[in-house]
Amino acid sequence: MAAFLIGLILVLILVIIAIRVGVEKEEAEETPIDSQIHVSGIYSVFRRDPREQLEKIRPSEEEIRKYLSAKNEDIGKLPLSDSDREEIIVAWNSYIDKNVLAIEKGDSQGVEFYYYDFPYECPGCKDFLSRGHYVSREEIYKHPHIIPPFHLGCVCMIIPHSGTENLRETTETGLRPFFDKGQIPQLPEWTCIVKSPDKQRYAIDESGK
Ligand SMILES: [Zn+2]
Repeated sequence: MAAFLIGLILVLILVIIAIRVGVEKEEAEETPIDSQIHVSGIYSVFRRDPREQLEKIRPSEEEIRKYLSAKNEDIGKLPLSDSDREEIIVAWNSYIDKNVLAIEKGDSQGVEFYYYDFPYECPGCKDFLSRGHYVSREEIYKHPHIIPPFHLGCVCMIIPHSGTENLRETTETGLRPFFDKGQIPQLPEWTCIVKSPDKQRYAIDESGK
């Protein structure tokens, strides 16, 4: 009987230990999410991966390919060849990379504001936004669809604003908020096609020639 009781107590102790380990493990797993939210100040929400957020809302490459294959001209009625279509897809992926990297770099430096810039005028964006429109990191976090590229062939870039000053309180020329009284303005549809010799022109712009 005594042996049975001791055995029973041992089993109970093991069960209690198992439950505690389980609870602690659960707490440990929750910590990374918590640490993303609890940090004080405006940077609290910034650490979420912008690429992951963007992938959820942007069309897949397959969807883009299918869409482009049925289109014969761009927004300016320029004809689209197979190599143009391919170039548009390459540019789309490359601009997603560039913009996500810009935000990741900004995050690593604690950048709070970003502004839009264009190596040259983007026909698909010109009626919606322009160089110098700025957004906060928090707005990007809440509305990942304000991360360029906005449409096929888009050359818009989001640039971290150096310095930690609050752009809302500055009068820096050319910079103005993109959001209108907290409301997100209309953005181009991704289906807008701009055929552009993007890679060459952007490379030229970057090297300053
Ligand atoms: Zn554009």
